[in-house]
Amino acid sequence: MSINSSIINDPSRLEALMSYQILDTVEEQDFDDVTSLAAGICQVPVALITLIDRDRQWFKSRLGMPVEETPVEQSLCAQAIQSAEDIFIVEDTRTDQRFCHTVIADTETPFVFYAGVPLINTDGFALGTLCVADNHPRELTDQQQQSLKILARQVMDKLELRRKILQLQEAGQLNRRLYQSIEQNRNLALIEQAPVAISILRGPEHCIDAVNKPMLTLLGKSAGIINQPLLHALPELAWQQPYRQIAEVYQNGKRLQGLDTPVLFNKNGREEIGYYNFTYAPLFEDGKITGVINMAADVTELVEARMKTEAANQELLLTNQELVRANRQQLIARQEAARARLLLNQALASAQLGTWYMEPDTREFIASQRFKELFGYLPVDDLDLQTALSHVTAEYRQLVADAVETALAEGKSYDLEYTMLTRNTQELKWIRTTGRFFGGDAETKAYLSGTVLDVTDRKKAEERKSDFVGIVSHELKTPLTSMGAYLQLLQMKAEKAGDSYQANALRKANKQVAKMSRMVHSFLTISRIKDGKIHLEAETFNLNDLAAEIREESNEIYPNHQINLKCSGTYQVYADRDKIGQVITNFISNAVKYAPESHVIDLHCFLADGQPALSVTDYGPGISPQHQQKVFDRYYRVEDTHTKTILGFGIGLYLCSEIIQRHKGRIWVESELSNGSTFSFSLPVEIK
Ligand code: ADP
Repeated sequence: MSINSSIINDPSRLEALMSYQILDTVEEQDFDDVTSLAAGICQVPVALITLIDRDRQWFKSRLGMPVEETPVEQSLCAQAIQSAEDIFIVEDTRTDQRFCHTVIADTETPFVFYAGVPLINTDGFALGTLCVADNHPRELTDQQQQSLKILARQVMDKLELRRKILQLQEAGQLNRRLYQSIEQNRNLALIEQAPVAISILRGPEHCIDAVNKPMLTLLGKSAGIINQPLLHALPELAWQQPYRQIAEVYQNGKRLQGLDTPVLFNKNGREEIGYYNFTYAPLFEDGKITGVINMAADVTELVEARMKTEAANQELLLTNQELVRANRQQLIARQEAARARLLLNQALASAQLGTWYMEPDTREFIASQRFKELFGYLPVDDLDLQTALSHVTAEYRQLVADAVETALAEGKSYDLEYTMLTRNTQELKWIRTTGRFFGGDAETKAYLSGTVLDVTDRKKAEERKSDFVGIVSHELKTPLTSMGAYLQLLQMKAEKAGDSYQANALRKANKQVAKMSRMVHSFLTISRIKDGKIHLEAETFNLNDLAAEIREESNEIYPNHQINLKCSGTYQVYADRDKIGQVITNFISNAVKYAPESHVIDLHCFLADGQPALSVTDYGPGISPQHQQKVFDRYYRVEDTHTKTILGFGIGLYLCSEIIQRHKGRIWVESELSNGSTFSFSLPVEIK
């Protein structure tokens, strides 16, 4: 880009520039404030107010610029004013096609970044710019650009103000000279030629004795008003300040001044408000006041420019406050994000959690260092989703792949466990993985991410526990059966012999053995479930009858409880009668065990979503919501003040849930703390 000398050297533009009498003036705080504000807002080291003369650019204010002026050929500002853009930005002069062949060196360090807003006066002449610069490439936010434009308007307003003040000072001097000569010579011709608005008002009615052209223009009247009393020519003045002041001067002979006085004139039938500086001086003849000389200057533009500056200042102040607030918020957000990241990383490291992230469109998969380590990879190795899935053992691979796809397609979260073989060493590991889809918005992209955790130790411990439980239960089963048989035999003998003490003790011993047998039976069922050996022996039976039988037995076993049965209909089911009985018995024994104060237990046969269902309700301590979903997990026990003294292994409900699931039925609990619990199951109508 080169300098277009016809724009720069346009005589009208240069004349306009000269009218401000600003070139080569001293530094002024007002302008320096603007450049330091501009540098602060844009966060750059250089901010200038440049004025483009014929062959030089001169700096009215120069922050970060050692010289007062530079040749116009090297001026980016000259390019800015001929660009006709309201803000001219070059993010990197080294790579910008327009400048990469031009030497742009306003200082020893060349400008790399430049942004300039042309200073355009009311007649449309570009006088120079307000610009900022840096020796690194950078960008300006919309808000920064906006602020720079506001500041440039301020500079222009200040220049206009300066020009008006100069004009007024000149007019003031002229006024004084004129007044003296009118006083001395009564020279009306002088009034006619004067470049400022003058009128002479005579007598108590302030008759317009003489008025010049500028005054007629100011009033919007013709020469016809001459010789008319003032209020006749300008009735709108009657209630306004200038009229009061003229009357005052005529009265006491003291000179008066009115600055920036608002006056409403009726010009050609239209009311117009303007601002004027007035001078009212008494006119003496033979020592007596005979009239008032009125000199006026129209300062409407000036006052409006000042008002605009004040409004712009206000706007700038608000923008600035907003910027400061936004910056502060950004800083806080950044600090919070950094703290959260740190905490997260610490948490991930101490929990030994691996993390992963996937981009839905490109399927780009990013695994954390720990993730790679778990799978037998080095931090520098690539690990994509397919490769990670290939390590999952065949029995779980589809399950994991489906979970990822469903999370992507339906935004569903997942939490599952699988086995995998590590790279190279082929070590078998149990992994617990979670995944969650995060939908994007206007600012962030959608993504899928989750965690991986090595749960091999826990799984092995569970297996060992199960194996142990299985073995012990198996070993206990035979001796327990024969012990039960012997006890029954002894009990019968004691009863026959009429030894009621022994018979009673043996009955109690028998009960305990029966309880133990049930427990051993449960443990055995669990280890069979684990080995996949549990088989259903389904038959069609009446659920009401089964419930009635169990109720009767339970009423005998738990004589301190009243067990009720209510049936809302008659329900035939096709299921394993023994195992369903085991579920009902378990619900009842839990109600007795965990709600000892609830002496009433209600059994209810009903239809749940069209399926035969049975519930057991107690009126005991209840279960809090956070435990409700977990009570069906293996080995899960609620450890609170109510339950900690009650013996159990956390397998009863797990067993019930396994049995019901194998029947493709549903099992659930409804409970409220202090308000009892209802455990229910429902069975599908047809599972033949
Ligand atoms: P356990 O074999 O230890 O009794 P369960 O699997 O039968 O275990 O029950 C799991 C947990 O559920 C228990 O630890 C107990 O806290 C809670 N629970 C079961 N039934 C009830 C009930 N009717 N009222 C209150 N809590 C119960």
